[in-house]
Amino acid sequence: TENEPMRSYPLGSDDRAKLKQALDEMIAQGPQEVPVVINGEKIYTGNVAKQLNPSKHASAVCQYHQADAALTQKAIDGAMAAQAKWEALPFNERIAVFLKAADLLAHKYRYKTMAATMLGQGKNIWQAEIDAAAELCDFWRFNCKYAEEIYQQQPPKNSVGTWNRVEYRALEGFVLAVSPFNFTAIGGNLPSAPAVMGNVVLWKPSPSAVWSNYIVYEILVEAGMPPGVIQFVPGDAEQVCSTALADPRFASLHFTGSTKVFRKLWADVGQNINKYNAYPRLVGETGGKNFHLLHPDLDSNAVRHAALQTIRGAFEYQGQKCSACSRCYVPKSLYPEFKKQIVAEHAKITQGPVWEFNHFTGPVINKFAFDKIKSYVDHAAADSNCTIIAGGKYDDSVGYFVQPTIVETTDPLTKTMTEEIFGPVVTVYAYDDDKFDETCALIGDTTEYALTGAYFATNREHIVHGTNLLRKFAGNFYVNDKCTGAVVGQQPFGGGKGSGTNDKAGSWTLLLRFINMRTIKENF
Ligand code: GLU
Repeated sequence: TENEPMRSYPLGSDDRAKLKQALDEMIAQGPQEVPVVINGEKIYTGNVAKQLNPSKHASAVCQYHQADAALTQKAIDGAMAAQAKWEALPFNERIAVFLKAADLLAHKYRYKTMAATMLGQGKNIWQAEIDAAAELCDFWRFNCKYAEEIYQQQPPKNSVGTWNRVEYRALEGFVLAVSPFNFTAIGGNLPSAPAVMGNVVLWKPSPSAVWSNYIVYEILVEAGMPPGVIQFVPGDAEQVCSTALADPRFASLHFTGSTKVFRKLWADVGQNINKYNAYPRLVGETGGKNFHLLHPDLDSNAVRHAALQTIRGAFEYQGQKCSACSRCYVPKSLYPEFKKQIVAEHAKITQGPVWEFNHFTGPVINKFAFDKIKSYVDHAAADSNCTIIAGGKYDDSVGYFVQPTIVETTDPLTKTMTEEIFGPVVTVYAYDDDKFDETCALIGDTTEYALTGAYFATNREHIVHGTNLLRKFAGNFYVNDKCTGAVVGQQPFGGGKGSGTNDKAGSWTLLLRFINMRTIKENF
């Protein structure tokens, strides 16, 4: 299995022209209607909500119909009715759906899915390519590969006169997939990973990504996903989730989103625990407060590299990745050089609506996000221990634009250093060169998260030393690279503590959560 080759959309290229055409057509068509889809039937409930275009919030990208509790119940019943047949399909028939979906996405719907992600979620071309094209193809293809390997696993030993074997089957019920706005690929993976293992799924997409997610859903349908196996259920989170979690057949939650919401759903599961036919599997990837740490041994080229990676890790997709770099620890001896480099790189950043094509950054996702990020920028501006050294402005008159912002602080416990912001704000703290070990401890002690982190060092002993000290503070740890951009099949992704159950998207360990085993011992 290979990663989907990434395209670069250079000026004058055919790819770029076709993507532009897809985008122009989508803008010209205006907002599309998105139904609830249950058992293959498109249901227009009339209870509609809009997904706005964050680059220009006066226009909507789609109007979507919402499921209520009764329709959610219907979706559960339909999924359960589809379960036996789907699970009984030979594995090769099941994976054919996802392999075909990946090919359809790569070669037929690439531009359309990317355009929907750009317009609806505010991604620039390259961020849309990484996500809605490459990563989603990779999730689909690598899940098939990992599933195949799992199904081949058998106990390695038989004692004389016995034959031992294991059988794999799906969970005892349905999976609820609740997906985020920030990756179309995660939207696609949350229902698909359980489904490839023979499960049936209710998929509740994010209100801020319904349009691209619906396109992904239609690709799965065109690829042969049988009706009922994945039910597309946009709607009020409270109604959809509380109905699903109250059903005795609820078997698993596959979630990516905020720590707060995941904890709330977990508590709801606890409330309902006596109702369930089986102990539910709760799989979540949640918040982060990800760090970059520079070792004093870097030379000036390495400092420049670290500064550039910090700009990328903090500001690509406006910092709206769970993995985004949000705090940075730089030794005092290197700080003047680092500051010079990062401010110089920041000065090159452009920002604007996604259809202008060339901008490094676009808008943040919605009004709620804009207000929240703004409050952190305001806090930094008012805090006497903080100085905004670049950016700091925001404007939501047309779209939800927040300038990429770099804060310098003398207080490693200030709010922007410890709380998740989920926007284009990074705070830099200069530590005493002789306090490297203490700084590593500080990194672990000052947040509730452990998602990603990056460590820049040159000397091998220093690399090993820092890597060991930071062992528990990031589920994805990068040495001399930014802390974002995990590639499926290369860097399994996910973290622990308040960042999630560390089940690693894009790996076999995730798929293991969605199967049941029976061990059979037979005496001859
Ligand atoms: N996998 C993405 C990365 O490595 C982040 C996923 C997320 O934001 O949830 O950057």
